[in-house]
Amino acid sequence: MLSRITAALMLALAATPASAVHAQTGNPETLVERSQASACAVLDRAVNAFGGKAALRAIAAVRVRLDAQIWPRLQARSVAPPFEPGVDEQDLLLDLRNRRFRYRWRQVEGGIERHSTSLAAFRDPVIYNHRSRTFRPFPGPAAIDGEFAAHQRRLPHLILLQALERDGTLRSLGQEMFEGRPHDVFSFVTADSQQIAVYINAGSGLLSKYETLFVDPLTGDEASEVVFADYVRTGATVVPRTLRNHEAGELTLHGRLAVEINPDITAQAFEVHAAGYAPAGPSRPLPERVERLADGVFLLQSVAGPQHNVLAVEFRDHVAVVEAPGSSAGTERAIARIRETIPGKPIRYIVMTHHHGDHIGGLRSFIAEGATVITTPGNRPIVEAIAAAPIRDRLAAQPRPVRLELTEGGRRILTDGSRTVELIDIGPNPHTHEMLIAWLPRERIVFQGDMFIVPSNDAPTGTPPDSFVSFARALEVLGLDVRQIAGVHGRTATIEEFRDRMNAADPDS
Ligand SMILES: [Zn+2]
Repeated sequence: MLSRITAALMLALAATPASAVHAQTGNPETLVERSQASACAVLDRAVNAFGGKAALRAIAAVRVRLDAQIWPRLQARSVAPPFEPGVDEQDLLLDLRNRRFRYRWRQVEGGIERHSTSLAAFRDPVIYNHRSRTFRPFPGPAAIDGEFAAHQRRLPHLILLQALERDGTLRSLGQEMFEGRPHDVFSFVTADSQQIAVYINAGSGLLSKYETLFVDPLTGDEASEVVFADYVRTGATVVPRTLRNHEAGELTLHGRLAVEINPDITAQAFEVHAAGYAPAGPSRPLPERVERLADGVFLLQSVAGPQHNVLAVEFRDHVAVVEAPGSSAGTERAIARIRETIPGKPIRYIVMTHHHGDHIGGLRSFIAEGATVITTPGNRPIVEAIAAAPIRDRLAAQPRPVRLELTEGGRRILTDGSRTVELIDIGPNPHTHEMLIAWLPRERIVFQGDMFIVPSNDAPTGTPPDSFVSFARALEVLGLDVRQIAGVHGRTATIEEFRDRMNAADPDS
């Protein structure tokens, strides 16, 4: 009964405009109300530190430029620090009044360069790919809303504006020391249902950081922290000049911010220089299906998760699987499909190509299934860490020790006399120091992770990134007479398609 009254009250609060909520806080009755009232007081102080409600509500548009070094978590070349930094450049023009944005993003990391501009200003929002010189529509309205929501978290002002709008969801989390200074912390829920914790410096009232939660494959529930610093006054408000991101306590981004509040929006502001760019289809995850590459050789496309493929190879009395991307839940789906596709044979081996987070998140359920992990020697600590990770899944419910076999001399051959899979370490390369590929000599199929990816919309590759070039060289040096290239991401390609993409002329040359 009590909970029903509380729920009704919360609903009423959520539907009440901001000013009315503040007026009601004189006689708080429940813990939720008291928590909300103290969060409102902290929010008010922060709003004042940023120039007051009127100044914040007068923000019609912002331009945010970022020039940063990045160390994406579980994406470095090496397993252990020191990690080599990548580069991240961003240039956002966000028109809040008309829900328009132009966002250029360039990232160079792990031998792969991404460079695109997403533009939602006209009737048909598009994404320009500056590497392949193509443009494609957004996959749907949800993708545009999702990107708009992400841009609304790029500045403290925009976070505070959302907290004001969503004050029915405000809750105080108490006080916490951050970087040696006391902070008042509150949380709120954004319109896209994201719970955000906001740290307000108790002295200055400035927003020092906000946090969201995510599940890390090695350490379980963790905070993703976005830290703003080095504030300077500009016009009626203050803006940060430094941005830092941390994930699971690790620094993942550190850069300089250049912020303009209410920049001039000229007629050309939403133009993108893309003369000669070719149209391409929307980029959507490949459909879920089991692709039979050869007799007893199956690619489980998008079964473990969107854009997460797994290779299953049938031997006389067992199955060997290459790669465990995604999550334990994804692996459970993959295991079920492998049982259907190759009935009555246990999964004896799970091969891990490299240590990156998106390639190892599903390892635990293969361990629970009784499979032995095969990988390169440098990956031992990461496999042991993932086996011990505090993740709620089958391995947690039915613990069993991890069995690990490491390649020796850069090779391991799996064979039962008639079927052979050669696991070959082609590292070091621009992506990782150690990198296994699976080569099936009789079927002339190679399976790899991140060394070659066909975009899901089949757009051109453009100038091949360093990781692709190093892969082509490795195939040549090894003298593999490849017919087909399958991968963890993207669709299977023929060797002719691979050569065409690798020979694509540099459009700028
Ligand atoms: Zn990778």
